[in-house]
Amino acid sequence: MARKKKKVRQIETIIGIIVLFILTLGALQNGEIQNYFSKNKKIVNPITAEESQNVVLEGEDILQIHFFDVGQADSILLISDGKTMLIDAGNNEDGKLVVSNIKNLGITKLDYVVGTHPHEDHIGGLDDVISNFEIGTIYMPKVQTNTKTFEDVLDTISSKNLNITTPKQGNKFIVGKVECEIMLAPEVTKEVEENLNLSSIVIRASYKEQSYLFMADAEKENENARTWEQSNVLKIGHHGSDTSTSTTFLNQVLPQIAIISVGKDNSYNHPSQATLSKLSKLGTLVYRTDEKGNILIESDGIQNKVSFY
Ligand SMILES: [Zn+2]
Repeated sequence: MARKKKKVRQIETIIGIIVLFILTLGALQNGEIQNYFSKNKKIVNPITAEESQNVVLEGEDILQIHFFDVGQADSILLISDGKTMLIDAGNNEDGKLVVSNIKNLGITKLDYVVGTHPHEDHIGGLDDVISNFEIGTIYMPKVQTNTKTFEDVLDTISSKNLNITTPKQGNKFIVGKVECEIMLAPEVTKEVEENLNLSSIVIRASYKEQSYLFMADAEKENENARTWEQSNVLKIGHHGSDTSTSTTFLNQVLPQIAIISVGKDNSYNHPSQATLSKLSKLGTLVYRTDEKGNILIESDGIQNKVSFY
């Protein structure tokens, strides 16, 4: 009889373990346990810009990403193997500056020009840029707006007999040696029309072991629309506003370096303390255009070198 009781107890224990296992799996799927662990994530020993000056980049195919200081706005130029992509062109008043920045680098053709969404601080200088360079593909969201800034961009595009391509999520294209993917290209809805930030085209560029995620002015809603792969460098969404950069998103991307494109003493109080403290908790190094001016990231695909000019 005693042996039988022992056996029953053993079976009960096994059933208990199985039930616990199933419950744990359920919780994992709910994301509760996942969130618990991800709250404690930390980037280990990222290399500072200063330390990166000692990094020796290997080979001839060095990727360059310039984050131009255009005040409270965005303008980013990626150069790889003689090919180029410009993501946004600052405010109207920044057009000439962006053009001269690009010309100073000896560039005459922009293979890809992305107007991430039709707010002035992103497409303001695009008409100047399109007038001054040979232009390949132009990516813009399908959403329309009735500002003069937007009309000026459309007029310049049609005066040069160019077309706008509306990208789709998942589209891939190559810039030199860099693979780019459209991570988000939101559909036009009433909500998107009312908040154009939500129409932001988001691009991820990868070069060998390194990856770069350009969030434009995407907000938390956009971040929640998909899952994200880890990326070494993150261009923070919406100038560091607390409308963007959720903890869940950051814990997926786990960036070693974050770039915030933001104006000195801007009236929006960007970047928000909340965003800065999340990045600091994670151990991400933050570089801001209002503090550093133009920011340049160079990479051989293995390591990144960060400098300012
Ligand atoms: Zn913006």
